[in-house]
Amino acid sequence: MGDEGVKNEAMEIMGLVQLLPRLVVFDLDYTLWPFYCECRSKREMPKLYPHAKGILYALKDKGVNVAIASRSPTPDTANTFLEKLGIKSMFVAQEIFSSRTHKTDHFQRINRRTRIPYNEMLFFDDEDLNIDAVSKMGVTSILVGNGVNLGALRQGLSNFSQNHSSSERNKQGRGRISKKSSSSETEEE
Ligand SMILES: [Mg+2]
Repeated sequence: MGDEGVKNEAMEIMGLVQLLPRLVVFDLDYTLWPFYCECRSKREMPKLYPHAKGILYALKDKGVNVAIASRSPTPDTANTFLEKLGIKSMFVAQEIFSSRTHKTDHFQRINRRTRIPYNEMLFFDDEDLNIDAVSKMGVTSILVGNGVNLGALRQGLSNFSQNHSSSERNKQGRGRISKKSSSSETEEE
């Protein structure tokens, strides 16, 4: 299936869900592309996983923002590759830096930059420690086994709407008391 075919199928999958995330965040190594970019030369021409581009285009078409959260120690190479692939300008936030935390600091920065609350985000990554840490922040987080693909997208959207409807129910149940805690996600507004 080419990029266009994947994009059409991704659009169909998104058309079936009632609620889309406002932001989808991707890891780079072994999520968008099948290698560690620190092991590559900038001069190479990188390749994405086969479904990655079609999914990115479909999200853009549906008005869903996309961002990157990567712990790569070689942001230079990562940026060069994103440019070569012609997708760099698609991302509203790109947090690419090595860190000791499992991407919680990446997500704090993304939240500050985009003002999008954690429970409006969907995240794809291939490392379970990142998935554990980031899902505790309230982000719907999906572990990918072989890069991001249509199956992962379908699962992500379905988990997202489940998480979202249960958090909405909690909010309503807690009434006014919830106001303070729910606003802490966008404290600086
Ligand atoms: Mg990775």
